[in-house]
Amino acid sequence: MGEAERGQGIITPMFEIVFLGTSASAPSARRGLSAQIVKHDEFRFLIDCGEGTQRQILQSGLGFKHLNHILVTHGHLDHILGLAGLLSTFMRWETIDELNIYSGRWALDRIHDLLYGVVLRGAQPPLKLQMHEILPGVFFEADDFTITAFPVHHRGSECLGFKFEEKSHRPFLPENAEELGVPPGPQRRDLVNGKVITLADGRRVRPDEVLGPLKPGVRFVHVGDAGRTEDLVEACRQADALVIESTYLESEAEMARQFSHLTVKQAAELAVEAGVRQLILTHISRRYREKDVLSEAQALFSNVSVARDFDVYQIKQSFDVLEAASSPARLRRERPY
Ligand SMILES: [Zn+2]
Ligand SMILES: [Zn+2]
Repeated sequence: MGEAERGQGIITPMFEIVFLGTSASAPSARRGLSAQIVKHDEFRFLIDCGEGTQRQILQSGLGFKHLNHILVTHGHLDHILGLAGLLSTFMRWETIDELNIYSGRWALDRIHDLLYGVVLRGAQPPLKLQMHEILPGVFFEADDFTITAFPVHHRGSECLGFKFEEKSHRPFLPENAEELGVPPGPQRRDLVNGKVITLADGRRVRPDEVLGPLKPGVRFVHVGDAGRTEDLVEACRQADALVIESTYLESEAEMARQFSHLTVKQAAELAVEAGVRQLILTHISRRYREKDVLSEAQALFSNVSVARDFDVYQIKQSFDVLEAASSPARLRRERPY
């Protein structure tokens, strides 16, 4: 997205999350295993790829186009087994010519065994398959956003969370341009791109005169399976949205601790402490009713929802969220639950 388009309000800066699988450990009749796609402009990032993900992708209507970046939080089977089926399909259909998989070392080793040991067995992948071991820090950078990995404590080593962050920018102020007599079109674009322009009547206009103060970009944080939250506060600080696992209710906190998972209460407390604006819970256990999960969270943090498969969330900048408070951020398909 160009600054000019953003400045003139043609495109709203945002990330869109499409949930494909929201169940913990094993699928249920209504929930598939962990998988979600984050969209930003033409970019598509699949985060985790539990068994059955490829069918969920088709059912969501997104299809496989542009799906060449896969980020994996950790190496447990409920987050990676779908990679085998996905690669098998890509081998037949050849719809993708390059596939990049990003994760910590432990998960990457297991994914390597799955893809090269089971799926390929010595055959050459018919696409450019690249496995990227990532460490905490920025590992993906585009013109207007970055993705940063951060450590997450869970069973297994090198588990990661991901922060998607639009670069900060100075918004274009159309009312100032209007007042100065800058016509819509290329001259406004030049100003947004930092160039001084000369109007038809000879007056010069500087970018400073039509750009507002620096605004932070949209921040969206995804945390997969996690056993504690105290080391996540900084990574989640002031996020416009936080997606995080909440496998257990507080009544089973001991079991959560034993299996290194979070309770709903812990996830909600993290949202409060980190000052996030919207909390979306996923990795939901079959043992609970959705309304019980929701009410435990709402007792601490009001702007919370429990993701369902095929839910779509648009994560916008905080001022957009406030302006759009009357329109639901979640676009949910009409499905009987
Ligand atoms: Zn899991
Ligand atoms: Zn796990």
